[in-house]
Amino acid sequence: MPYIDELSAAEIAAGVARGDFSATEVVRASLDAIASREPDVQAFLQISADLALQTAAVTDARRAKGEPLGLLAGVPVAFKDNMQLVGTRTTCASRMLEHFESPFTATCVQRLLDAGATPIGKTNMDEFAFGSSTESSAFHRTGNPWDTQRVPGGSSGGSAAAVAAGEVPIALGSDTGGSIRQPASFCGVVGMKPTYGVVSRYGVVAFGSSLDQVGPFGRCVCDVALAMDALVVGGRDPLDSMSQSVPASFREQLEEPVEGMRVGVIESLMEHEALSAEVRAALEDARAALETQGVQFVQVALPHMEAAIAAYYVIGPAEAFSNLARFDGVRFGYQEPDCATLAEQTARSRARGFGAEAKRRQLLGAYLLASGVYDQYYYPAQQVRTLITADYRAAFARCDALLLPAAPTAAFRFGEMSTPTQMYAADLFTISNNIAGNAGVSVPVGLGKTSCMPIAAQLQGPAFKDHALLRVARALERGVEDAGRTCSGTVAPGFARMGGVLA
Ligand code: GLN
Repeated sequence: MPYIDELSAAEIAAGVARGDFSATEVVRASLDAIASREPDVQAFLQISADLALQTAAVTDARRAKGEPLGLLAGVPVAFKDNMQLVGTRTTCASRMLEHFESPFTATCVQRLLDAGATPIGKTNMDEFAFGSSTESSAFHRTGNPWDTQRVPGGSSGGSAAAVAAGEVPIALGSDTGGSIRQPASFCGVVGMKPTYGVVSRYGVVAFGSSLDQVGPFGRCVCDVALAMDALVVGGRDPLDSMSQSVPASFREQLEEPVEGMRVGVIESLMEHEALSAEVRAALEDARAALETQGVQFVQVALPHMEAAIAAYYVIGPAEAFSNLARFDGVRFGYQEPDCATLAEQTARSRARGFGAEAKRRQLLGAYLLASGVYDQYYYPAQQVRTLITADYRAAFARCDALLLPAAPTAAFRFGEMSTPTQMYAADLFTISNNIAGNAGVSVPVGLGKTSCMPIAAQLQGPAFKDHALLRVARALERGVEDAGRTCSGTVAPGFARMGGVLA
């Protein structure tokens, strides 16, 4: 019998539909894999075993009655812990929400459940999604399954690690400035940030509302396409005012040829001083893999991209300050006892409930929005946003997608980033995409020669051309597979086949 981590999500759903194994057996195998791998990886904050078994029993009963099964029938999935799911807590990896029971279920979570998925648990993250390493979680650190002395990336580090360790085939994350694409690249899995508005954020704790987007992780592009179809098949979600409807045809278009498609590269970025030699080499491999399939490469420019980090670290904290004001110990969140006044209670609750990075972001946001200061920072940041969006529009007039790094280096070691600004600077290649609201996907292209860690290429595409972007991602995956270089589809060595036999 196979190990759970040898099967893709599509194979699990097909096996459940055929009756090769039951959804309940799949859950048990996933829980067994989790039990043997979690001591090293610690990707999860909560395991929802009862909920998963109950859900699987429903799927098995449906099958017994001959009822139609969904796209993700019996597929174990994990959710970043900023997504509401009734029957679990939604903590955002913060003391502030340590005991917060989800009052309702987020649309993105519900859509996967509607497709028959089984909710295995909630994954670790940077507190309130502030960070790039999952180190700011208030609860514990998550190890990168390829080397547990290194970070899994962040902020959706737990979701990326759970997939890379073969604990679940699909997990959801959120991406405000790179939080799906960067951890996917660090953990050697595929991670997609759809166009802003393609996936509903209703029920996902907000960070930067003009930037936030939900998306899936999988070990291969096919599973990401499967998850995307399940996420969008229900159409526009009226509960997220930015939600838009796109066709659920991600799988359908995936294998179409890419011959004649044009991919842009930005020379100044490829020469960027922050870029490590092994990432640069991996991007050359990615280019070759696409060229063999008839993709044409063109030079393009994004002249204002260097200003993206500065603009993001104004807009992001400003929006975060506004969104996190609700965690005051009265409306939501930890409440400090024995306070004489409301002001004292608010101050002390917030001081105790938030960790250092969450405080830093909110203080920064409060300052940036203060009268007098606003005109110096927030207003120019919005102007930069307009310029970057226009840059992309001009670039995408000349190409169907852009090829660029997901991160300047492979996964770094715990504590290696000594200052917050050093960490912020490393988001250089992902942030502009959120600023413009475009789609982006991170695809593993092999192991770095120096670090021996996974390295990804990032593809970015124009807004609402997500299907075509994923097709290029699949071509890239196919190309590197043919060249024998990929780590796509594989579980991190050391974790494969540890527990989790599908009986
Ligand atoms: N690393 C970025 C930050 O710290 C992005 C985080 C995210 O996308 N949630 O803000």
